[in-house]
Amino acid sequence: MLGHSYSHDAFLRGCKVIPGGVNSPVRAFGSVACEPVFYDRAQGSRIWDVDGNEYIDFVCSWGPMILGHGDEDVLNAVRAQMKRGVSYGAPCESELLLAEMIVELVPHVEQVRMVSSGTEATMTALRLARGFTGRDKIVKFEGNYHGHSDSLLVSAGSGVATLGIPNTPGVTRATASDTLVARYNDAQSLRRLFEAHPREIACVIVEPVCGNMGVVAPVPGFLQELRELCDEFGALLIFDEVITGFRVGLGGAQEAFGIRADLCTFGKIIGAGFPVGCIAGPERIMSSLAPEGPVYQAGTLSGNPVAMEAGLAQLHKLERLEKSEHLYANLADKAARLAEGLRELSKSRDITTQVNQFGSVLTLFFASAPVFDWTSANASNREHFARYFRCMLDEGIIIAPSQFEAVFVSYAHSDADISRFLSSAKRALEAIAK
Ligand SMILES: *Cc1c(COP(=O)(O)O)cnc(C)c1O
Repeated sequence: MLGHSYSHDAFLRGCKVIPGGVNSPVRAFGSVACEPVFYDRAQGSRIWDVDGNEYIDFVCSWGPMILGHGDEDVLNAVRAQMKRGVSYGAPCESELLLAEMIVELVPHVEQVRMVSSGTEATMTALRLARGFTGRDKIVKFEGNYHGHSDSLLVSAGSGVATLGIPNTPGVTRATASDTLVARYNDAQSLRRLFEAHPREIACVIVEPVCGNMGVVAPVPGFLQELRELCDEFGALLIFDEVITGFRVGLGGAQEAFGIRADLCTFGKIIGAGFPVGCIAGPERIMSSLAPEGPVYQAGTLSGNPVAMEAGLAQLHKLERLEKSEHLYANLADKAARLAEGLRELSKSRDITTQVNQFGSVLTLFFASAPVFDWTSANASNREHFARYFRCMLDEGIIIAPSQFEAVFVSYAHSDADISRFLSSAKRALEAIAK
C-alpha cells in the first residue's frame, strides 16, 4: 500500500476552500471510492505525488501531454517567450505561426480563432453556427462531452456521466430545449430529429471518436451519414476535435476519416499543457466572427504568447517525429499492445470486459457486450472499475478515475511502462475475479 498522508491532509484543506477539494469534478476520486492524489512534479512518463510516491502517468493531463511531461523543446520555447513578455493583450507573431500551422495541417481549415479552453471553443462554435445559419437548435450525441457551456451539458459524458447528473441545475429549460440529443453511431436517430425540426437545426456537434464515455469509435459510414444529413437539411457539421486533434494524426479526424466538417474545435494538445483552444474552419463561415462579422466573441488572454509558443513547439515536434519515426503509428502500436494484453488477461480470468482502442487512446470497459454508444457504455460494472482503479493506483499506475474516460498513451511511455501496466492490470483483475 502506498502512503497518502500528505495527499489526505491536502484534500481535507482543499475541501474547506475549494468545492469538493478539486477544481474540476473529473479530478475527484469519489466514483472510485477514494481520495484524490495531490501531485508535486512530473517528468517524462512519470508523475510524483506530495507523499513522494512515483506513478506511471496514463492520464497525461487528459491528453495535452502527448510528448510526456517536461519536454525540453516545449520548455525552451516557454522560457524564451517568458523573457519577452508573458501577455500583451494584443496581436503577436506566435499566434500567427500557430494559426498558419493549423491551417496548413488540417484539411478544409482557412481561418482560426484562438481561445483559452476547449469549452470556450465549442461554445463559440455553436454561437457561430447559430449566427451563420440563423437557426436556434443544435444537436449533440448522448455521452459526448463538449465542455461545460449551458447548451452542451445535456446528456453529457465525462464528469457529468461519472457523477450521474441527468439534468444539470442552472441550465434553463429554454436553453435545454434548444439542444436535441441523438444516439452516437445511430444516424437514423439524427434523421428523425431533422425530420421533426426541419429548418430549425443550426448544427450537429460530434466527437468524431468519442473519448468522454470511454473510447468509442464511429462505426463505418456513421460520420459520412452525418455529413450527408447535414447537407440535406442545411445544418453545419462540427467536429469537436479537442481530444482527437493532433492525436489521431496531424490532420485530425477530418483527415483520418476523409470527412469534411464545416467547423472544428481544438484544445488540449494544441496548448501543450497551457490553457488553449480554438475554432477553425473555412473563411466563408469564420468571417462571421467579430470584428469581421457580427457574431461576437472575445478573450483577454486569447492567443497568449507563452501558450502559443508552447503549442507551436509541441506541434512542430509532433510533425518532426511523424516524419522521422512514424510517431502516430508507434503510439497506436503501444496502445494496441495494451489493448491486446488487457483482452488476453480478461479472457483467462472469466471477467467480461470490452476493450475499445483507437490510435493512442483506449478504455477497458467492465461490460459484457460490445460498447458502441452511451447505453452500452453505461451498462459497465462501475464497482469492478473502482476496484481496478484502486489496485492500479496501489501498483503505481495512474489512470483516469472513471469508467467513462480514456487511457492516454504518450511518446514518453516506454515498452517497459507498457509491460508494467499489463502486469499491474493482471494483479488487479485477479483481485476482482476472487
Ligand atoms: C476536454 C474536452 C472539452 C473541453 O475542454 P476544456 O479545455 O476542458 O474546457 C471539449 N470537448 C472535448 C471532446 C473534450 O474532450
